[in-house]
Amino acid sequence: MIGRQIIDRARSQGRHVLTEIEAKELLKQAGVSVVDTKLATSKEEVISTSQQFGFPVVLKIASPDVVHKSDAGGVKLGLRTAKQVGKAYDDILRAISQQYPEAKIQGVSVQKMARPGVEVIIGMSKDVHFGPVLMFGLGGVLVEILKDVSFRIIPLTQRDAREMIREIKGYPLLEGYRGQEPVDVANLEELILKVSNFVEQNPEVEELDLNPIFAYSDGAVAVDARVVLEEG
Ligand code: ADP
Ligand code: MG
Repeated sequence: MIGRQIIDRARSQGRHVLTEIEAKELLKQAGVSVVDTKLATSKEEVISTSQQFGFPVVLKIASPDVVHKSDAGGVKLGLRTAKQVGKAYDDILRAISQQYPEAKIQGVSVQKMARPGVEVIIGMSKDVHFGPVLMFGLGGVLVEILKDVSFRIIPLTQRDAREMIREIKGYPLLEGYRGQEPVDVANLEELILKVSNFVEQNPEVEELDLNPIFAYSDGAVAVDARVVLEEG
């Protein structure tokens, strides 16, 4: 489905929060590298999709009503066998039905388990004065506790992208701290510019989060995505 259709379908269903799968599809079309992800609607399909992807895989709840998926027991990582996948499927649906009995469940998303990398975040929100603003920072606890992030007004220039990465306190982690491999920072700059372009071309996008993106010495991949549309 092309981007326009993804947005129109969500709207026609009265939703302004896209699912992770929809958000990833949109961003993939914008040239952002996202981890292979597919919706499955039965245990059999979850298992067969996992086998097609190859183990290890990740399962996640796919519901527009569950925003923080792991808090709700809706994420299972590192599944290595069909049996583990089957059990994870049951566990996820049980946990969600207990915590969100009213949630509309589209199914479970099956994803390749991405290899570990440095977790970064790219986000966009709209400022009343400046309009869309792009945020970059280190992901995980570093963003939540230290708020180690930088901001630029969209549309960004190459120089903005360059500077905002280097501005964060945690930048040495990206340069390869204590023997760690350095991250491909040029690739992150491109990624930031792609997200900036995507936001420029889709003004109905109200909010966006790629959290986390795993950054590597040879590229980067987003493993979670969230897109919120303007109301109406
Ligand atoms: P949420 O933010 O809704 O709780 P995420 O999709 O971000 O859920 O998953 C929670 C965490 O699980 C991520 O921060 C990441 O560390 C890990 N994770 C998620 N998807 C993958 C994946 N495909 N491969 C490897 N790790 C993943
Ligand atoms: Mg996340």
